[in-house]
Parts: sequence; structure tokens; C-alpha cells
Amino acid sequence: MYNTKAYSAASATSPLARTTIARRDPTERDVQIEILFCGICHSDLHQVRNEWSGVMPTVYPCVPGHEIVGRVTKVGSAVTKFKPCPECQAGLEQFCPNLTLTYNLPDKHLGGVTYGGYSDSIVVDQRFVLRVPSNLNLAGAAPLLCAGITTYSPMRHWGVTKGKKVSVVGLGGLGHMGVKFAHALGAHVVVFTTSPNKKEDSLRLGADEVVISRNADEMQKHAGSFDFILDAVSADHDISAYINLLRRDGNITLVGAPEKPLAVSAFGLIMGRRSLSGSPIGGIAETQEMLDFCGQHNITADVEVIPIQKVNEAYERLLKSDVKYRFSIDMASLRSE
Ligand code: NAP
Repeated sequence: MYNTKAYSAASATSPLARTTIARRDPTERDVQIEILFCGICHSDLHQVRNEWSGVMPTVYPCVPGHEIVGRVTKVGSAVTKFKPCPECQAGLEQFCPNLTLTYNLPDKHLGGVTYGGYSDSIVVDQRFVLRVPSNLNLAGAAPLLCAGITTYSPMRHWGVTKGKKVSVVGLGGLGHMGVKFAHALGAHVVVFTTSPNKKEDSLRLGADEVVISRNADEMQKHAGSFDFILDAVSADHDISAYINLLRRDGNITLVGAPEKPLAVSAFGLIMGRRSLSGSPIGGIAETQEMLDFCGQHNITADVEVIPIQKVNEAYERLLKSDVKYRFSIDMASLRSE
């Protein structure tokens, strides 16, 4: 074991603060990474404040951070054989029943729980290490590892392509990546936002139209017209209003994970044989495919790079939708502490 610097929360109400955590020494098939940038996902905030206590209670201390980009500093000498479960064999690791998430799940090596990327370094099994195309800026590439794959995967699954009318609801970290991907895949893209000041950005990011979702008349103009809607909202909202915007057999996929259950109108789904589904991150092969796609199309997240000392302030700004469009922590700031 070795010690490394990190930021952790001691309880649901305490701010993130400097700490030291233990990482395992790399085993034969591990890769040790010096973390250069880590994105701040709204899931970090949900988890740190125990807002998902019903499904994934937070174990404290909690070191969040799963959008990790860094430099390999050590590699293990061999890869051992492993027995993949059917989900892993199918390249759908995100559905594995024995999944180990980047943080807050049992650590099979050290005991306790895993600690995430608000940290100086991390040790990872090589099967879960990906290559970032060399033309991509690293601060902007970190959020691709969650915000990127979480929006790319359902768009590929539901066949977003040229000729389809697609909507992205909520222009946050996930939403702005959804707009970039839907545009790059050739779809007609409409953004629904509660923030009038995001109109121009939506168009710049690749939207063809923007609707302020608090305006019911504007919403109604799109009734029954969408093939696919990606809902990336982090808080309670009227999802039935969006279901009514789908055409026959259209799909709305939830990637946003609000604290409380959403109210769904049965008739909205029944009358157009519409479907509502959800989607978590993506498998490893598809995440590499997404990174390569980003390399080809020169896509990264729009980031505001911050030092780790500003993480608590960043969480408060995240709650006010005051980030364009992802915070990315420059981990040099932790090394110099
Ligand atoms: P974010 O940057 O905070 O963006 C959320 C956006 O939702 C905001 O920018 C805002 O967009 C909209 N919004 C916020 N409050 C709202 C309200 N009261 N009513 C309507 N719209 C509201 O968050 P994020 O990091 O993109 O994450 C979004 C959600 O996805 C979170 O719940 C997160 O936990 C979840 N997530 C899921 C997965 C997965 O695997 N499925 C992966 C990562 C994250 P506008 O200003 O445009 O309205």
C-alpha cells in the first residue's frame, strides 16, 4: 500500500477537505496513474450529500471523482486470466452484477470502499484503462469518461443518425455533450433548457433549435415530433410533458438521476406506443469507440478548469446551473498543497 493525497467528505453535510488515502500497490495486471485532471459530475454531488441514500447509500469518508485523465506511472508485469460474467463478455461491463464503481463500492483489494479521482493518483486494472486520442485537450477530455459516454451510448443504442429529430433536455455537463454528439451524428437537434442565457451556447454547440422549457406554447409546437429525447436533468421536473413530444414509437431515455421519483403519465406512453428507458454510462469497448469518435471529430467538453481548493464553491455553482459546462479539476493544485 502507499499513501496519496485526496479530497474527501466526512459526512453528508461537511465540505470536501484535504486528506490522505491508501491505494494498493499495483498488482501484476494493474496500472498506476498520476491523475492530471478530474471532471466534477453532478453524480459526485448527489453521492457526497447522500442524495441517493435509497439505492446507493454513501459510505464516509467519500472521495468522489470518476472522470479521470492522467499519465501512466507504473504497470504490472502480466495480465492474469479472468472469468468474465455474460455482461462483461458482451462488452457491457456497466451491467455486471459484481460491478466495482470508481468510488463508494467495496474495494476488493484493500477492504473498505473505493476512492475516486479527487486525488493525486489511482491504481486501476488494465482492462479499465482507456487511450485518449493525442489531439484532444486533456482537461476537456476528462469529462468524456462519464458525461461523454453516458450520452453517446444511448444515442447509438436508439439509432440517432441523419434524418432523426432529437432533443436534449437540460444543458449541463451531460446535456452539452449530448448536443455535440447528436449534431456530429447528423441529427436535427433541439435543446430544451430552463436557462434563457444558454440559448446562444446551444446553437454554438450544435443545436438547430432551442426552446425555453418554461414556455408551454413553445413546447407544444414540437408535440408528437421527436424520434428520441435524451433527458439529462438532475432535479425534479415534468417528464410527462416531454413524453408528449415523442412521435409514435419514439423513445425518451433518462440519464439524469434526480433524488426523487418522477411522475410518469401512463397515457402519454400508451397512446403513441412510446417508450421510456434509462441508461448508465457505457461499456469499456464503447467508451474507447466514443473517445476515438471524439478524436476524429475533435470533440471535447467545454470546461472551466479549477484548482481542487475551489471544489466546494464549484458544488454550490453546480446547484445553480452556473457552469459552462463542466468543471475539470487541475490536479497539479493538489500536488502543490
Ligand atoms: P449538471 O451539469 O448540473 O446539469 C444538469 C442540468 O439540468 C442543468 O444544467 C439544468 O439545465 C437542468 N436542471 C437543473 N435543475 C433543474 C430543474 N429544477 N428543472 C429543470 N431542469 C433543471 O449535471 P450533470 O453532471 O450533467 O448530471 C445530470 C444528471 O445526470 C445528474 O442527476 C447526474 O447524477 C446524472 N448522471 C447519470 C449518469 C448515468 O450513468 N446515467 C452518469 C452521470 C451523471 P438547463 O439550465 O439547461 O435547464
